[in-house]
Amino acid sequence: MPVIDDGTLVSTNPATGAEAGRVPVSDEAAVAAAVERARTAASWWQQLGYDGRRTRLLRWRALMAERVTELAALVHAETGKPEAEAIVEAAGALEHVDWAARNARRVLGPRRVRTRLVLAEHGAHLEYQPFGVVGVIGPWNYPVLTPCGPISSALAAGNAVVLKPSEYTPLTGQWLADTFAEAVPEQPVLQAVHGLGDTGAALCRAGVGKVSFTGSTATAKKVMATCAETLTPVVLEGGGKDALIVDADADVAAAAEAIVWGAMTNAGQTCIGIERVYAVEPVYDAVVAAVVEKAGRLTVGVEDTADYGPITMPGQVEVIRRHIADALERGGRAVLGGLDAVRPPFVHPTVLVDVPEDSAAVREETFGPTVTIAKVRDVDEAVARANALPYGLGGAVFGRARAVAAARRLRSGMTSVNSVLTYVGMSSLPFGGVGDSGFGRIHGDDGLREFSRSKAITTRRGPTLLPAMTFERTPAQVARLVKAIRLLYGRSR
Ligand code: NDP
Repeated sequence: MPVIDDGTLVSTNPATGAEAGRVPVSDEAAVAAAVERARTAASWWQQLGYDGRRTRLLRWRALMAERVTELAALVHAETGKPEAEAIVEAAGALEHVDWAARNARRVLGPRRVRTRLVLAEHGAHLEYQPFGVVGVIGPWNYPVLTPCGPISSALAAGNAVVLKPSEYTPLTGQWLADTFAEAVPEQPVLQAVHGLGDTGAALCRAGVGKVSFTGSTATAKKVMATCAETLTPVVLEGGGKDALIVDADADVAAAAEAIVWGAMTNAGQTCIGIERVYAVEPVYDAVVAAVVEKAGRLTVGVEDTADYGPITMPGQVEVIRRHIADALERGGRAVLGGLDAVRPPFVHPTVLVDVPEDSAAVREETFGPTVTIAKVRDVDEAVARANALPYGLGGAVFGRARAVAAARRLRSGMTSVNSVLTYVGMSSLPFGGVGDSGFGRIHGDDGLREFSRSKAITTRRGPTLLPAMTFERTPAQVARLVKAIRLLYGRSR
């Protein structure tokens, strides 16, 4: 549990309580000073152009890759997750930095846009310009991957970034800023500020050009309200309650393996983790049996050989306990785990069946290594139930003939077919949710555009053909305009 001691934030291992390290807390004045420094750095960074930024971002990526085991040890010390999991997470982050560095010019660079007959005497140009300084507020569950998505897009687009990591993972956030400073020593293009929620709120009020927030839906609403005070635009990556559908023609063993990993990796503390499964009747029993068998073999503990570690936030254990208790009280059954599986700071794998659809375990984000499996008549019913919640982040479909069609119908930002969570590692695809899971996109072309504003420029290249946008037009010219309107727009096809 992080504590503030004499102006420093103390980060501890959630499983052992061992101190991982400390960082100074940034009050409102310190946040404002960091943003001010970032403003100067942003001008320098912007004038480097796409090639200059690409070279430096790839240098940073190389340095992080070189020190990836050091990073994994730090993430383990702060979150308790096994180092192997932290290395998988870091690989995703490095891929996003690499992709953004290499693709920024293609996506954002100046280009000519085709004009039409109307205003044909003008040329049209489009480019995407940076905001200046972007504030990135990140969660603790993937303290490398989640901030590196918006950071890499924002930096590649020409912005400087001030990062506010979660109070549970400040050292990891500081490590990102420190390695960046080592690779790019000239200006503080990426800085970290630390503290509790009030430090994040100070960053929202500090006059940054945009705020990228990743965290719970409840905090997302607070961030949006704070940013509304200064009309600061936001991209919000909120929580989720992702569903996985298993159709009758699915490979059941592959689906079960994906369910277990998708639900239990990182002790279920994954925004795009699988929390609900809808299996069609012919394969339901086989899916439940295979999931129970595979999940029952997982090892839990703080040692590095464990499949997953502790629940990082002590308060979350009670949420998980409440969801399991509610499911059981209301007729659900634990075919693996159950209330006995909750042994703080660990929660052992829990598989729940026959859980009513209006129970907390089905409707609210559990953020633990639990999964509900429900029997459905067909894919249509599975899609309807999956779409019945305000959340809409990711999801998955296992099957053949109807799988892609079902994937399209799921109300979410991303869906993987015959795999889980794949889209988060695919740097060329956008990532983000709908409804209570937030709005805006990180990663891919859309992610780069999210951290820049479009700038349209027209340039006259000849005399005006039909002078309409002037007080000096004549009645004859207006009559010609009427003719032109009928010619151009008068047909229904
Ligand atoms: P929180 O919402 O509690 O915190 C997220 C960040 O916001 C932290 O840095 C936090 O600081 C900061 N913060 C808290 N209060 C404020 C405030 N009033 N103004 C500005 N910033 C504030 O989320 P968690 O860290 O608990 O992360 C877990 C949640 O994140 C889950 O719901 C999960 O689904 C979601 N998530 C979503 C992802 C996505 O891409 N959609 C990816 C990963 C996680 P502090 O820690 O100091 O309180």
